[in-house]
Amino acid sequence: MASLNLSHIYKVYPNGKKAVNDFSMEIADKEFIVFVGPSGCGKSTTLRMIAGLEDITAGELRIGDVVVNDVEPKDRDIAMVFQNYALYPHMTVYENMAFGLRLRKLPKDEIDRKVREAAEILGITEYLEKKPKEMSGGQRQRVALGRAIVRSPKVMLLDEPLSNLDAKLRTAMRSEISKLHHKLQTTFIYVTHDQVEAMTMGTRIVVMKDGYVQQIDTPRNLYRFPGNKFVAGFIGTPQMNFFEGTLTQHGEQVTVEFDNTDVKLQTPVSLFSKTNRTYLDGSKKVIVGLRAENLSVNPEAYPYRAKCRVSHVEELGTDCQVYADFNLENEDIVGESPTRVIIKAPAGSFYQVDEIIEVSLDLEHLHIFDAQTEESIAPRIPAEVVVDGSVAGGKIKFLGNTIKLPQAIDVEDGEYEITVPTSAIGFGGDIEARVVEEEDVNGQRLVHLQVGDRVLFAIAGADDELGKTVKISIDLKRIALSRGGEQAQQPLNLVNTLSARISKHKVTVEKEIKGKIKKVPDLAFTLDIAGASFDCSRRLALRLVNGGGQDIFEKDLEVRFDPYQVTLGEQGIAATVEKISDYGKESFAVCRVGDKTVNVAVDKDFEATEIKLELDPEVLAIIEVGRGIRLA
Ligand code: ADP
Repeated sequence: MASLNLSHIYKVYPNGKKAVNDFSMEIADKEFIVFVGPSGCGKSTTLRMIAGLEDITAGELRIGDVVVNDVEPKDRDIAMVFQNYALYPHMTVYENMAFGLRLRKLPKDEIDRKVREAAEILGITEYLEKKPKEMSGGQRQRVALGRAIVRSPKVMLLDEPLSNLDAKLRTAMRSEISKLHHKLQTTFIYVTHDQVEAMTMGTRIVVMKDGYVQQIDTPRNLYRFPGNKFVAGFIGTPQMNFFEGTLTQHGEQVTVEFDNTDVKLQTPVSLFSKTNRTYLDGSKKVIVGLRAENLSVNPEAYPYRAKCRVSHVEELGTDCQVYADFNLENEDIVGESPTRVIIKAPAGSFYQVDEIIEVSLDLEHLHIFDAQTEESIAPRIPAEVVVDGSVAGGKIKFLGNTIKLPQAIDVEDGEYEITVPTSAIGFGGDIEARVVEEEDVNGQRLVHLQVGDRVLFAIAGADDELGKTVKISIDLKRIALSRGGEQAQQPLNLVNTLSARISKHKVTVEKEIKGKIKKVPDLAFTLDIAGASFDCSRRLALRLVNGGGQDIFEKDLEVRFDPYQVTLGEQGIAATVEKISDYGKESFAVCRVGDKTVNVAVDKDFEATEIKLELDPEVLAIIEVGRGIRLA
């Protein structure tokens, strides 16, 4: 039994192939985690790094509390089951299962007990004296599972264990593995390219594509709240229908239009409560997603209707799938059409080819994505809300409140669009808000707050007690003001970046050798950032060498840090203060360092112009620029 922690894990193969990028997740004890995605997305590589069969290029892997990057596979307390079973053909089932335990020199009676126990759990006791070749694929896979569980591993890793089995057996083994997980009460990590396997087995699923994690969530949440178009299309059969289109708001209504069709639906603006309103003026292309089960051939089923032209019907027994096209001109289309739609219909539904039918749409289950980024435009935790406001006489009026503007926000009087990020809203303050809803989003408390005539979003702490009304604050350093599409005020940049290198230096150190203090040569390391050198621990230097290679000393690095991670000192990076951004409660020195700007949190009475910035290499994010890998 064990939890796992993967922190900024990367894998770059010797040929330069970047197979896994910045993989981070916490896996709780006893979870059943499934890695799923198309072939080549990095699932097996990640699993093999956890197993210790593949080196981790950068990042940290913990099993329980122990960092295991450099721990041998056999010492990681894990067991792995492969697709091809990897059984010894000349040994009996019993011997196959006992083999690993014999290598570990366990007492004979203990081996016997463990093998028989595992055989009992898996229902293969009667085959113990048989050889693998006398068994079916499913039975062999059970032996492979048995060989793993006799070791009582803390973590079970399974790499496409069912893909060699036929469809019927796969379904049966799927539920056996789920039951096995329940029985063993051990952490399972399971790799598959089959979304049905993932959905039916995982307590949580990691969807991957091209080496990047797309979304980590429960099966139900992946289906209900896909974070991007890829996840929306990957999870669920038949694939979600996608249409390019636009959204245009007129007062309390939003018109949803699909390109190249007559589909034009008048919907209440409440359907778009989490949508950034910049998507609602008809100027940005969106991709509308609607699953086949959220459309009906009964025009009365839902309040939104549209006509489509039937191309063919697939009868599935329990129900059928009607293939149609919202573009009524599209006759006889064979192959892909961007306006094609699949509709789930009752079994036995019959339509003529080219018949025009009226269907209804369940827009409560609409998914909308940005046509360019393909990210959901209504994420479960909205990143920001855009509201109208005005500035006059050093005060800003928005959301029914008038707030004195701090010196740092210096814009002309006039009307503005104000972007308020969710991260800018805090509880406690002097703006009155009404709590209209509270949602649990994967353990985070998302609170919907009515302020003036708009709804904002905020994350509440686990212990925050919220009444019907609350007082909130808006962190003004995070807001942006724009006018006619032009930015007038940017949020304060909270991620400083500077170029860096790591250097090694020959030094002599005093060491006790045979009772005498002697001077011996040694190596010391520094992180050189913008002309200043900072001592770098051996541990950190080793981490950079391990991830970046022996030639790390010639490579360009970049360090990232926030304004609070900098201290002012006697020595350090020379910086010229260009201005002070005073946000009232907090002040920041905006400094020039070479051609970069660095923001530094400073006291209210700060006045200097030439300063030295000190950084602690141990807390910085350190990136190898060339390959785009975070090494620390
Ligand atoms: P998946 O398990 O999702 O199918 P893998 O983790 O096996 O994907 O592979 C991820 C990517 O890394 C693929 O593009 C694959 O070709 C590449 N890859 C895998 N193993 C190696 C290797 N030993 N050397 C170079 N590239 C590799």
